[in-house]
Amino acid sequence: MTAMKWFYSFLKKHNRSMALGLVMVTVISVLAIVKPIVSGSIVDDVIIAGRYELLPKLIALLILITVLRGLLRYWSQVTFETCSQNVLYAMRDTVYRKLLQEDFDFYNKKRTGDLLSRQTGDMDAIRHFIAFVIYQVYENVFLFFFALIMIFTVKWTLALCMCAVLPFTLLVTLSQRKNGRPRFQKIREQFSSLNTFVQENISGNRVVKAFSKEDYEISKFNKENDGYRDAELAAAEIWTKYVPLFEFLSNMLTIILMLVGSIMVIQGAMTLGNYVTINGYLWMLTNPLRQIGWRINDIQRFTTSVEKIYATYSEEPKVKRPDKAIPCERLKGDVTFRNVSYSADDEEIIHNVSFTVKSGQTVGILGSTGSGKSTIMNLLCRFYDVTDGEVLVDGRNVKDLDLYNLRQNIGMAMQDVFLFSDTVEGNIAYSKPDCPFEEVQKAAVMADADSFIREMPDGYDTIVGERGVGLSGGQKQRISLARALLKEPSILILDDTTSAVDMETESYIQQQLNAIEHKCTNFVVAYRISSIKDSDLILVLNDGCIVEQGTHDELLANNGYYATVFRHQYGEFEKYVDELNTTTDRGGEAHGTK
Ligand code: ATP
Ligand code: MG
Repeated sequence: MTAMKWFYSFLKKHNRSMALGLVMVTVISVLAIVKPIVSGSIVDDVIIAGRYELLPKLIALLILITVLRGLLRYWSQVTFETCSQNVLYAMRDTVYRKLLQEDFDFYNKKRTGDLLSRQTGDMDAIRHFIAFVIYQVYENVFLFFFALIMIFTVKWTLALCMCAVLPFTLLVTLSQRKNGRPRFQKIREQFSSLNTFVQENISGNRVVKAFSKEDYEISKFNKENDGYRDAELAAAEIWTKYVPLFEFLSNMLTIILMLVGSIMVIQGAMTLGNYVTINGYLWMLTNPLRQIGWRINDIQRFTTSVEKIYATYSEEPKVKRPDKAIPCERLKGDVTFRNVSYSADDEEIIHNVSFTVKSGQTVGILGSTGSGKSTIMNLLCRFYDVTDGEVLVDGRNVKDLDLYNLRQNIGMAMQDVFLFSDTVEGNIAYSKPDCPFEEVQKAAVMADADSFIREMPDGYDTIVGERGVGLSGGQKQRISLARALLKEPSILILDDTTSAVDMETESYIQQQLNAIEHKCTNFVVAYRISSIKDSDLILVLNDGCIVEQGTHDELLANNGYYATVFRHQYGEFEKYVDELNTTTDRGGEAHGTK
């Protein structure tokens, strides 16, 4: 499907309204043609022939035509505007749904500003096209050719002379189209780039301030701003060049009429009334000619925008929903990774990972930064698809399960916490917006978030800023955990979820997780041994491979990476406790001697 066909698939649903609007425009144009006939009649029949009784009738006809044209113009405008808004509504909705279907890979590579531009500026170019450009082009083409035909009927030889400008008009039109196209593409790219820059700078303004990089960012912004202005000026250069050419051609028509028409009237080949009639048609020829430059401008803005939107829309997600999905309303939560490998951009991130966990068990995942812990969790949720091997949930390949059902069964507190600018309650109840407040509170209690939420100015009704601004790192993590718990998932994934909370809180949360009433398989990704040491299975990752796996005791006995990390963390802790005891003893002695 081409971009234009895709656009038409939206417009064709409003074919009838558009046709009705165009019929009204046709009537408006035809009525405009009556005016010169009446003017000619006033000259020939009333002024020259002296039939004065005709004058009131002709004036009444003119008033009637004027009123009718006004009314039809109003209705046609309402029709086109309504159609444009309806098409835009459907198109925005379709594009947005598609954006939601896109996978992580799509969002990793796309700039948010680009996607925003597609849904705003580009959509507006389409609205303008439907609400204004279509009927303007139709009306002008109609008026031009209708006027030409009428002039032919009045005096075909004069009409033929006037046609001399047509080949030149065609040539100039084609030339403007050819030269303008790349410049309009450049405008859209610069607009996206400017949007992306502003969006990133506003989201990242805290980093800008922290590094005192305001001046640097302003100079970068100026570059983007210059780029956009230059792109607009480059496009303007086209129409500023071509609009005078069209103006020239339209003036040529006037000159031809005056020259050839006057000669004909002087020679008696045409009446003065005919001359006045043709003169009355003249604006119907010159006006469209003058507007060609502007309309080509509008059309090119429109086609570029449709192409841009369609290019984004037509990108298919790599993670696909199966054609015939196995129904899986409630999963048990058995998970098996069988020889799983995953590569992105020709780089292997996960290599031959295999493990099995039964429903209700807890898996701890430990490993250095960048070792692939989050990627393994992403593969389980099918945010990415494995490049080799298979991920099984309840013995079935996740690729065969319904994608949404699979994810509905998984509660994930992501490493990079994202909260919506909504109330705390709204954020926690994201998966179940209609659930009773008691459930929200229960989840918050389990995540040890209830007490600090209640201390907030409006408690659960407190609005958290964009991305949870106004909350501490640990508070955001606990709200995110409560959000995952409220789902009552079969598989719960905590990716570094308690890294920003103190040990005491972490221990409380662990107790709460152990007391979950329904059977739930837990995946706990953490750096702290304390977070995972009681797990049924601990996976130690290095460079995308499982280097050790087993229980805490088995891994200690193994005396590998895990045991080293354990000694680092607990050794230092015991050393710290020893030092603390020694200092306290000394302090006590000192106190005692005083
Ligand atoms: P951390 O403890 O810092 O969270 P991690 O163990 O969770 O690290 P991952 O996020 O799984 O690490 O990333 C593992 C490696 O894969 C990293 O080197 C990362 O740069 C790379 N990586 C992750 N996702 C992608 C992707 N979509 N495309 C390319 N490389 C990726
Ligand atoms: Mg990670």
